[in-house]
Amino acid sequence: MDAGLKRELEAKVYAGERLSRSDGEALYASDDLAWLGRLAHHKRTELNGDRVMFNVNRHLNLTNVCSASCAYCSFQRKPGEKDAYTMRIEEAVAKAKEMEDEQLTELHIVNGLHPSLPWRYYPKVLRELKAALPDVKLKCFTATEVQWFEKISGRPASEILDELMDAGLESLTGGGAEIFDWEVRQHIVDHNTHWEDWSRIHRLAHEKGMKTPATMLYGHIEEPRHRVDHVMRLRELQDETGGFAVFIPLRYQHDFHDSQDGKVRNRLQERTTMAAPAESLKTFAVSRLMFDNVPHVKCFWVMHGLSVAQLTLNFGADDLDGSVVEYKITHDADSYGTPNTMHRDDLLELIWDAGFQPVERNTRYEVVREYDRAPSLAERRSEPQKVWA
Ligand code: SF4
Repeated sequence: MDAGLKRELEAKVYAGERLSRSDGEALYASDDLAWLGRLAHHKRTELNGDRVMFNVNRHLNLTNVCSASCAYCSFQRKPGEKDAYTMRIEEAVAKAKEMEDEQLTELHIVNGLHPSLPWRYYPKVLRELKAALPDVKLKCFTATEVQWFEKISGRPASEILDELMDAGLESLTGGGAEIFDWEVRQHIVDHNTHWEDWSRIHRLAHEKGMKTPATMLYGHIEEPRHRVDHVMRLRELQDETGGFAVFIPLRYQHDFHDSQDGKVRNRLQERTTMAAPAESLKTFAVSRLMFDNVPHVKCFWVMHGLSVAQLTLNFGADDLDGSVVEYKITHDADSYGTPNTMHRDDLLELIWDAGFQPVERNTRYEVVREYDRAPSLAERRSEPQKVWA
């Protein structure tokens, strides 16, 4: 990058000025990863100090049966396939209750677009889960699922959200976003929820008082300009509603073979590699720098590996998801040795080891408990170091 442009961008960041689309594209074009990290870390520290938030949650996927066949997805099954499943409500409750002893604070529920499950099933599951675990917050359903509920119930999203909230819904999840630019989206997404409907549904959720996350699936066939465009759209919506609590870059997973039947379902496999760690760190840094109006940037460690997750904390991220437990959407295909579950103590150790102060939060980003600050580097290195997968 031209030295003059570099000085100009640096001055804008330190003055707290909003970065433009072309600034974002210029940042992606820079090969100076250490410089990007320094800028992003400045921004992250201004907003969140040396704190790293995490929560104790459990992911639940009620069904993997889906009417769509998104090109990157190895989770979905068609009705009748050998390992297609749909949980009975009691089964979902029993799985959720397994975590009761760990003081679970959140259930994160996303599912396939099941062609024949009735709409009534979904609020009913939420009611039963809430009755069984009244203190646990329910973060459920992508905007894509909400639009699917509109289709199967014949009711508008506003009524659907009202009923789900009445049943205990605390927040939508941030999924279904992938990359909004149609140039890319038409090749990867096989359902009808594009920017217009995704933003309509999150806007509605924000109007009803929810704080929601927003995600971006990166590292497949998109280019950096598509990532910048994605962030710009969300930033504009955030200016309007203020309802996004967190932005979550999700690394596309390449090496997808299903552990149960050995099939490769990911149709992007032939055309892509996945983002290398340096590209992931760059994506976190530029996202943090562009999003001057979203308080948190989260690293979903399952999709990045634990070592890279630690590094993202120095490249703009200040939030780690979570204890997770049984993440099926990409994890069945993970051949990189990343674990499926982190307990509270594991997360504390991971955060301290990276030099930050762990803060446990709930779904609304309210503090549940603040832990000690990280020991000094000298103290941390005086013990044999753990190698994080
Ligand atoms: S990403 Fe979601 S909607 Fe698309 S095929 Fe997979 S489960 Fe279905």
